[in-house]
Amino acid sequence: MPDLYKYTKRLSEHFFNSDNILLISHINPDGDAIGSQLALYHYLVSSGKNVTMISPNNLQEFLRWMEGSDLIHVYIRQREKCRKLVEAADLIVMLDFNQPDRLGEMEDLVTGSGTVKIIIDHHLDPKGFADFEISDSGYCSTAELVHELITEMNGNPFRSKPYSEAIYVGIITDTGNFEYGSYTSRTLRIVADLLDTGIEKERILNLVYNNFSENRLRLQGFALNERMVVLPEYQTAYIWLTRADLDDYKYVKGDTEGFVNLPLSIKGIIFSAFFVEKEGFVKLSFRSTGNFPSNKFASDFFSGGGHMNASGGEYRDSLENSIAYFLKILKENFRSLNGNK
Ligand code: 5GP
Ligand code: MN
Repeated sequence: MPDLYKYTKRLSEHFFNSDNILLISHINPDGDAIGSQLALYHYLVSSGKNVTMISPNNLQEFLRWMEGSDLIHVYIRQREKCRKLVEAADLIVMLDFNQPDRLGEMEDLVTGSGTVKIIIDHHLDPKGFADFEISDSGYCSTAELVHELITEMNGNPFRSKPYSEAIYVGIITDTGNFEYGSYTSRTLRIVADLLDTGIEKERILNLVYNNFSENRLRLQGFALNERMVVLPEYQTAYIWLTRADLDDYKYVKGDTEGFVNLPLSIKGIIFSAFFVEKEGFVKLSFRSTGNFPSNKFASDFFSGGGHMNASGGEYRDSLENSIAYFLKILKENFRSLNGNK
């Protein structure tokens, strides 16, 4: 077990000294953001704390079954209420992000608040905008880190069904249900322990993964058939979708989640990019395998960042120009980013 005591001593003092604790997840919250937020919520509430929760924007359907998710205030739907929650808090804990722009429209409200702020996160390159950062990229998910912190503070694993489900959801969603290499033997021990406590694995997997619309599945087929370009020379593939494509398939938020991973299943492909046309800019997602630093590609050329193997960014131009720029950058930088192999 890593030495988490350096964190938990101070963290428990903050919890002990605070009565109104506000937990905030990142914009477009994923299973790990909501899983770690809800897990910490259930733990703190059981310790007798007043706890409130905010997400910058809406939760997707595949997370809305989670116990406590209906208690998460959505900033863009309840701005005034959320402002009051920020003002009332005597401690703010932010989960699963380390850059202030991941707060979306709440950024100024939260960064401008004088309340003590803690970050619990597992991404690289923290931007240092909190009073206390618990940040370790050695964890597959923030949920795994939260679980280890709570276990250390609690003396043994905290047991409650909604808590265990929240940790499990954070871990499975951030590891692609154990498909990406980011998990460790520690992760599997935690999951084994969660399974021993009797969480309903099949039910949860069904709720998280078998929740797609027909349109979403057809959009995936279209993206692979009509919009995927493979560049074997650069061990790279990319997929692009226009606004019109999304309209054709009656896109709803979250429908393109996971598309960026698909090209990595092609033999020899180590880098994948996904372009989606937005209003006035293009949003990009990157995935890689091995040591190819997709996050460096994202931060150096697309105003973004993330993990070595999963990152994202944006480009303020048309879709066509974004793809042309991407190809230029790829050709110029692929070999050096790939260790000159
Ligand atoms: P996704 O492709 O699933 O949207 O994002 C994967 C990861 O890339 C996220 O967990 C986050 O760490 C990072 N990421 C995605 N988009 C951005 C962005 O615009 N800026 C930064 N800094 N990181 C991003
Ligand atoms: Mn995460």
